Amino acid sequence: MTEVEARVARWVRPQVQALEAYQVAEPGKAIKLDAMESPWAWPGALEEAWLERMRSVSVNRYPDPAARRLKPLLREGLGVPEGAELLLGNGSDELIQLIDLAVAGSGRTVMAPGPSFAMYRIIAEYTGAEYVEVPLDAEFGLDLAATREAVSAYNPAVTYLAHPNNPTGNGLDLDAVAELVAQSDGLVVVDEAYAPYADSSFLPRVLEFPNCLVLRTLSKVGLAGLRVGVLIGHPAWIDQLEKCRLPYNLGSLAQASAAFAVEHQEALDRCVAHVLGERARLVEELPAVPGVEQVWPTQTNFLTFRVPQGSADAVHRGLLDRGVLIKRLHGSHPRLEDCLRVTVGRPEENNRFLEALAETLAVAA
Ligand code: PMP
Repeated sequence: MTEVEARVARWVRPQVQALEAYQVAEPGKAIKLDAMESPWAWPGALEEAWLERMRSVSVNRYPDPAARRLKPLLREGLGVPEGAELLLGNGSDELIQLIDLAVAGSGRTVMAPGPSFAMYRIIAEYTGAEYVEVPLDAEFGLDLAATREAVSAYNPAVTYLAHPNNPTGNGLDLDAVAELVAQSDGLVVVDEAYAPYADSSFLPRVLEFPNCLVLRTLSKVGLAGLRVGVLIGHPAWIDQLEKCRLPYNLGSLAQASAAFAVEHQEALDRCVAHVLGERARLVEELPAVPGVEQVWPTQTNFLTFRVPQGSADAVHRGLLDRGVLIKRLHGSHPRLEDCLRVTVGRPEENNRFLEALAETLAVAA
């Protein structure tokens, strides 16, 4: 062991040393269908107007720490209930970290159903909390009885419920969510990253409970590069969490771009509608590809599917060899051993995916 390694081993907190760094695949020239991004950015006609807006942003000054221009637009655009307050993050990832820093941490428990979004566990663990995962039921819905029992047993400081859930794609039963919020003493965060693609939302109910926040993001509708997440709820919670937000977490270009996006909501909505149309086509066509054993229902911009036992690695590699990058889920969770996740792309990208998958599965068979 070198002297540097010895110092690292002595001083980096054990929870951090125990972690695996979050891996993001390098797409190279492949069609990128791995990360739930939208395949469309600004429509051509808007691009010039957006660049013009960017010219008016002063980058020699710090950004507005209160995001005074952006917040009212988001409030309107997202349909935030009267009386609720917003807190903005550098992506919703950052807001999860901020919640755990302020509410969980050492000696407390963070809970979420599983399989769910990987960052719930990673952030809980490096911020010193104990992480408890309650298995989802056979269809990846909430197991209400088991979750209720776990809430009683652990009294979690924070519970994350992703509606719809990543990486399984399904929505949760919102009556069951309401029951869990009502039963929990600690904070329940309903993570609605995929709300633009979902049939329902908990946002209208967020103020009904003394312990609920709803999390949104602009990442899934064509703005993943901006990194804008939005936490919504009772001002009393938001005021406390604000204390842990770094004052300039959201850059000026991101704020101005997000404001521009919300002002042109109809353009974003058209992209969402295209994605929904392509999703409907994949829901029809993916199960018909020979070798695809199961496709789970989705309320998101991705589909999770199962291939023959032991073949997921070869299928992932075969797709990459044919220029298509999707997400491997095997190895991420015992329930997802033979599963892969594909993000809905442009029509021609989805065609290429379906062809490449059929070829790959024919070889793997
Ligand atoms: N929550 C869920 C359920 C997600 O799937 C993701 C992105 N994969 C996020 C939050 C984080 O999104 P972002 O940081 O881009 O806002």
